[in-house]
Amino acid sequence: MTVRVRIAPSPTGNLHIGTARTAVFNWLFARHHGGQFILRVEDTDTERSRPEFTQNITAGLQWLGLNWDEGPFFQSERLDLYRQAIQTLLDKGLAYRAYDTPEELDAMRTAQKAKNQAPRYDNRHRDLTEAQQRAFEAEGRQAVIRFKIDDDRTIQWQDLVRGTMTWQGSDLGGDMVIARASSVDSIGQPLYNLAVVVDDMDMQITHVIRGEDHIANTAKQILLYEALGGQVPEFAHTPLILNEKGAKLSKRDGVTSISDFQKLGFTAEALANYMTLLGWSAPDGEEVFTLPVAAEKFSFDRVNKAGA
Ligand code: GLU
Repeated sequence: MTVRVRIAPSPTGNLHIGTARTAVFNWLFARHHGGQFILRVEDTDTERSRPEFTQNITAGLQWLGLNWDEGPFFQSERLDLYRQAIQTLLDKGLAYRAYDTPEELDAMRTAQKAKNQAPRYDNRHRDLTEAQQRAFEAEGRQAVIRFKIDDDRTIQWQDLVRGTMTWQGSDLGGDMVIARASSVDSIGQPLYNLAVVVDDMDMQITHVIRGEDHIANTAKQILLYEALGGQVPEFAHTPLILNEKGAKLSKRDGVTSISDFQKLGFTAEALANYMTLLGWSAPDGEEVFTLPVAAEKFSFDRVNKAGA
């Protein structure tokens, strides 16, 4: 099996140190196994995505020496593929159109809160007839498309960093939205979880290596792989980069993008070295090395579970 991994940045800001570090781990893993490293730009959020951020991200990855073998692919150019997958789910009865207004969803959550229940969609529009759907549209409502998540499903995977991971369907917030701005006759804007699974299947990704903030998404995505008849890849969730207070590093912490570090005069080699050691250590205790040398030694056994 050829290892195929990807980095999938959203171009909603400059190349973030967390994304760059995820790219480092993907690159090291790919190079260690003689595999392929793929660049995919996740620009389905048309309001927040900007070409100058794509430019900053690709330039930053190149500067660090994280050369990719395929891509960049752009999700905005692949919408038809996502819509076909959504149509498949609708045809199989695994997804449906829901017409709740934001006010109705708010009221639902307020009622749940009053009963001390976790907020979730209560799946109330699962069984609408087409006539009921058209009646909602006649009122001027738009549909979202929701993918059914059974509460009593148990989802399990062997995470390469964290070991056995177990999720219950009932903890995933109810049937999940996979497209917005839709109607009985159209599929509108496909959303993140769906697009990622369709792409990872299409690009034959064997290992999904990303930050642990995506763990709940992984549980949902495994259900989507099954529903679409895809081969579930291996997953590795890496610890997040934390600020001094132990919280996830954010823009408020000041220096967070690769451009910020460049302005401070860091060399690409020093920064790549530093990021490699944020959450990983070499078996021989070596602390100064180039990316190709780190790639020879890289494995997930030596990635920490705790934040860096
Ligand atoms: N676009 C996602 C992000 O920036 C990528 C998540 C993934 O790797 O699946 O966090």
